Amino acid sequence: MTSGKTPGDSRPDLQTDFGYRILRLLEGHGLGPSPIHYWIFHDYLQAANEELVKAVSEQLSAGRKLDSFVLHGLFERYVAGESLSRFSGMGDELEALLRGVISLLRNAERNTADFHESLTDNLQALDQADHPEGLKAIAQRLAAAVVTASSDNRALQKNLEEAELEARHLRHELEKHRKESITDPLTGLFNRRGMETEMARVLMAADELCNTMLVMDIDHFKSINDRYGHAVGDVVIRKVAASLRRVLPADAVLVRFGGEEFVALLSGYSVQEAVGLAEQAREVVERLRLVNRQDDTVVEGFTISAGVAPASESDTVETLFARADKALYQAKHTGRNRVVVASG
Ligand code: GH3
Ligand code: MG
Ligand code: MG
Repeated sequence: MTSGKTPGDSRPDLQTDFGYRILRLLEGHGLGPSPIHYWIFHDYLQAANEELVKAVSEQLSAGRKLDSFVLHGLFERYVAGESLSRFSGMGDELEALLRGVISLLRNAERNTADFHESLTDNLQALDQADHPEGLKAIAQRLAAAVVTASSDNRALQKNLEEAELEARHLRHELEKHRKESITDPLTGLFNRRGMETEMARVLMAADELCNTMLVMDIDHFKSINDRYGHAVGDVVIRKVAASLRRVLPADAVLVRFGGEEFVALLSGYSVQEAVGLAEQAREVVERLRLVNRQDDTVVEGFTISAGVAPASESDTVETLFARADKALYQAKHTGRNRVVVASG
């Protein structure tokens, strides 16, 4: 197999393919392809993170083994806390790797088959011919060489099959890891980390859609906790989250910002329509009634307040949030259980 390309050859060059080089490094260090291992070698090869590259180089030049423990340490130190949006980018790289591996596998299979066929034909021809001994010896050497070549090919094929499986598994793991890291476990909504990446993406989209942010907070939630206990408080948070999910548009980015506070970013609605949706959410929550089946306790009459702010072109997630949060503050201070639109 050669890695040289001819014009019009669309096969991916796996010798230089990025994902393939990462898998090779993992293999070289006897490491499994976990998302964290992959991330470290990804950043190392791409020289994306200067401190990380320095740390890895130091480990390597000191002749230290890069085991899983070391890589997790490096991850905690130099990578964790960084935006996780790049996880999805890595998924794309793996996709390309996977495609390349599959096409290479196909070619390898074809080559092997061709090889065997022509070898068999040639040997038969030699056997049938009335040939001098020397020629037969040459043919046998040739046969040995070809057998070696094709078993190399089989070994390569096996490697590729393994790489393909690993790449598929890794892509799955990366996606799972990415989803978990941006999801709030109590409500299934985005968490704060997810808010940053998902909302920034919406705000930056080059379309003319009007974006509006809602910041919503359960009123006097502390007294619900005090009265019924933290576990019931959690159920209230979950029910409010589910109500918001139901009332707000399916494509709204919906986030549990923390505790009993929620943020939503709507796209393609006028401010009036967004206020209408916030009012609807407020009314639905107001009507919620929870019954504890164990002791028939009824929890009801809880409410939310909301601040609404339309995005301007220059807004970032942060500046937009600041305005919507200010409006929420006004809603709280003018009696709660109401929706206030940001002024200016
Ligand atoms: P306000 O109407 O001004 O929003 O009053 P509040 O009582 O809702 O607000 P405050 O910020 O004083 O209290 C929020 C409480 O939420 C305090 C905290 O203990 C509780 N809390 C935060 N996170 C959770 C959680 O995950 N589960 C439960 N059950 N309670 C939480
Ligand atoms: Mg509150
Ligand atoms: Mg709050």
